[in-house]
This record gives sequence, structure tokens and C-alpha cells, in this order.
Amino acid sequence: MTGRKKVLIVEDDFSSKLYLNKVLEKMDLVLLNAGDGKEALELLKENPDIDIILMDIQMPVMDGYSCTKKIRESGSSIAIIAQTAYGMSDDRDKMISLGFNDFLIKPISQKNLVEKVSEYL
Ligand SMILES: [Mg+2]
Repeated sequence: MTGRKKVLIVEDDFSSKLYLNKVLEKMDLVLLNAGDGKEALELLKENPDIDIILMDIQMPVMDGYSCTKKIRESGSSIAIIAQTAYGMSDDRDKMISLGFNDFLIKPISQKNLVEKVSEYL
């Protein structure tokens, strides 16, 4: 039993994944990783105590929009922070209507990442 918060990083790009892990490793968190939306759903099923999901949008197999939709359809109110490409969406209302709690625009600075994750812990 650990009191540490669990964060699920959903990201298909290897270097982005390494970067997110490296930054978040400095916080006292348990980090889980999924490479696409389908894997994320499986990990979430095995770890219902996940506190925050950092969700990439463009991924193979199942994208971040579909994955988030499925999580919300299951009745979960887990915090989901989208990682959006620059210019793709900076519309907060639209992201919230799609089921996200919040979003970060790529490239994500260390400071913004730590601040945003801390906000939902
Ligand atoms: Mg991607």
C-alpha cells in the first residue's frame, strides 16, 4: 500500500514519453505508461486507483479523444489532462466538452507540466 499518487502517461512518441517521465520522476509519484488509448484503458482497468491521466491526442490504435470518451462513458471522473499539438486546440470549452479536465499545449515546458499535474493531485 502506497500513499503516492499514480499518474498514467499515455504517449506514443518515444522521446516525448522519456521527457514526461524524466520531469515527473522528480515528483513523488508512481508513473505508469501506455503507448496508445487501448493500452491506457487496459492499464486503467488494472489500476483503478490512478489519480491523473496525461493523454496524448494523436496515437495509433486508439487516439486520445476516443480513449477519453470511453473513460467518461464508463462513469469515471478521473482527472484527464490532454497533451495537444500547438494550434490544434487552445479552446478550453471544447476540450471540456470532449471530457478533458484540462490541457497542455506541446511542447510542454517542465514548469507547466509540474504546475498542471500538481493542480490535480
Ligand atoms: Mg502522439
